[in-house]
Amino acid sequence: MKYFVSRQKYWPTGELVVEVAVGGKNYANPDMLVSQFPGEAEEYHDPRQAVAVGIKIADAWKAASGHTEIEVRTGFTHGFTAPFESGSYQEAQAWAQRQYQQLDNCDACGELLNDERYTDSFGEGKFCSERCALGSEEQGGESCEACN
Ligand SMILES: [Zn+2]
Repeated sequence: MKYFVSRQKYWPTGELVVEVAVGGKNYANPDMLVSQFPGEAEEYHDPRQAVAVGIKIADAWKAASGHTEIEVRTGFTHGFTAPFESGSYQEAQAWAQRQYQQLDNCDACGELLNDERYTDSFGEGKFCSERCALGSEEQGGESCEACN
């Protein structure tokens, strides 16, 4: 799963929004503004990081533009135009935490899995790296000493 951070000027309301969209950049709403702040128009694997970056961008944008009503909004467009619901920074952070808990983590080290994932030699489990996959086999792969 990816999370895409972009600045938007929603049409027709003219609301200024920093959007954190589930599914990556193909799922952002279409009224995206030209990238201006660090971390903007990028994809993140960790929703908590995406929201944290989004809040930084919203604050920088407020300072630069003089607008005070800039929100960080989160959601999923399903590939359509679907302006996200208004919410506070705290609500965006709570959303990120819920998203994070639903994500897959490495069976061995607990790190968040990105698109590249590994299984052990039996094709089982999900791991962040070959090292974690092999490590788990060594620990869990005890065979019967009598049979071998
Ligand atoms: Zn791992």
